[in-house]
Amino acid sequence: MTMRATLPEFLAHAIAMEQEAADRYLELADMMEAHHNDAVSAVFRDMCRYSEMHRDSIRARVGALALPKLRAWEYRWRTPPEVGGEEGFDYLMEPYHALRYARSNEMRSMKFYRAAAADAQDAELRRLAGEFAEEEKEHVLALDAWLARTPRPSAPFAEDPEAVEPV
Ligand code: ZN
Repeated sequence: MTMRATLPEFLAHAIAMEQEAADRYLELADMMEAHHNDAVSAVFRDMCRYSEMHRDSIRARVGALALPKLRAWEYRWRTPPEVGGEEGFDYLMEPYHALRYARSNEMRSMKFYRAAAADAQDAELRRLAGEFAEEEKEHVLALDAWLARTPRPSAPFAEDPEAVEPV
């Protein structure tokens, strides 16, 4: 979608992004549980719940508005290109990698909302996008707090191991 979106386009995008986040967090929670990392699994279950709550509150805001359909590439989470798609997902079994993966996608959402707010023609769209950008920033910061407590694995992290993009 272009940044100069209508309110229905924006809301459709926001709902799809929250649903995608909820799905991916649930997947990550299950992975961490299988890996016997209950602490990180609990983090992802919480993030999943927040995404679902956010999705539901956006749906409530939509009310009777008709929303456009989106293409998957517009909202799907991205694995770092080095991972090589879904079959490379095993590498996320390390909590550090899973947290970094989630962080990069939260950053992507935050930037999307910031850009939508900056370019908005519609006052309500600008207000909502600004609010959502702040929520995504909170998610990035929450993941940062977990990353700070999570040992970095010995295996190299292909996607720029040193620099973590600031919020
Ligand atoms: Zn988020």
